[in-house]
Amino acid sequence: MRGECVLGDAAEIVAGVLGIDVGEAARLMRRRLRAMSYRGLRYIVFRGETHGFREGTVILAGREPVVVHGYPAIRRLVLLSYTARHMVDRIVVEEKMNGYNTRVVYYEGEVYAITRGGYICPYTTARIRRMYGDKLRRLGEENPGVVLAGEVVGLENPYVPVYYPEAPGFDYFVFDAFRGDKPLPLRERDRLVSEYGLRRVRILGVIDKWDNESLRRFIELIEAEGREGIVIKDPEYRVPPLKYTTVSTNIGDIEEGMRYPFDEGKGYLFPRIVRLLAQGYEEDWRGEKLEEIAKRLGMAILRPALETLRKRAEGGLVAAEYRLVFPDEQVLGEFLEYMRSLGVDIVASIIGSTEEGLAARIMKIKETHDEYTRLLKTGISPLD
Ligand code: ATP
Ligand code: MG
Repeated sequence: MRGECVLGDAAEIVAGVLGIDVGEAARLMRRRLRAMSYRGLRYIVFRGETHGFREGTVILAGREPVVVHGYPAIRRLVLLSYTARHMVDRIVVEEKMNGYNTRVVYYEGEVYAITRGGYICPYTTARIRRMYGDKLRRLGEENPGVVLAGEVVGLENPYVPVYYPEAPGFDYFVFDAFRGDKPLPLRERDRLVSEYGLRRVRILGVIDKWDNESLRRFIELIEAEGREGIVIKDPEYRVPPLKYTTVSTNIGDIEEGMRYPFDEGKGYLFPRIVRLLAQGYEEDWRGEKLEEIAKRLGMAILRPALETLRKRAEGGLVAAEYRLVFPDEQVLGEFLEYMRSLGVDIVASIIGSTEEGLAARIMKIKETHDEYTRLLKTGISPLD
């Protein structure tokens, strides 16, 4: 299959980087790693944690292999008033944007966009190169070894399409900068962002960790603006950050996920109920307030799932739809091949051309399609 490189070569590279013998590297290749390529650049994806490297780590295997570390998981805070227990003194409160995590690296003269899972996404890479290619190349030349991490947001988004007025179509907001596996102090990140003309996630404030009143105000603001949540960081990264999402986000995620109960739905439900449970405790929901939230939650679970089932019963396709803009036809082809190599059932149709390139409608067919088909055919539940 194109998009994958020869296994033997990859094992040798892995052996060299991890300091293990080739036999062990070959075994690892089969279990934990995956060899891929993008426009002639071979790379190796860590599909799970191994040898002290996080899932999502990548080895870029050009002339001189380098490791790009996986982006670390962020601890989720569910009781906002417990912030001080986890932080040192001052805290930076940033907006948590809702898109997809993208590491940007400059390697052997080119810019690459790497997803959370450790894959070079052909779509993201092409769009980021087009928007910020010159700036990112300069940043890479002048700051060797620096890897940026940021969120791709906007509607022209193949993973998490969410509308942002400041980025309606597609844009990239930096939230961290790394040297190796080490996050840089936030002022260093901010210097890079402003010096090279990039965009950064919004900082809501820099406050004392005990200042619960300000924290609560930030959450109310984020809730009122319909944004996702906040990330709380130590300015020097002396301790790891915390994330916190609003009540509306926690319910809204369930509503989104339950359009496809056998895909996102089942995994989304319980963790978000736990978040709401903690919020209900901290905010002391009772009586009418409790009923209001319970109704919203119930509707978020049932309504979208029922709508999809009706759609399937009427012969419709259960698929997630995206409108993407591809700089050219080559990128469209690369993206489809890439998604299919990851096992995604995807179809595309070109719907027009814009200044930015070709607009295409992409449909990802969901597991729920087949589960609903069987359910409607037999009347038997796939669960008990
Ligand atoms: P985790 O990162 O804990 O594995 P996840 O992949 O489910 O969880 P989220 O729950 O969305 O992701 O929360 C973490 C993600 O939030 C980060 O990986 C990053 O993509 C995104 N993010 C958005 N804004 C920020 C920000 N200001 N600082 C750090 N991360 C942010
Ligand atoms: Mg996210």
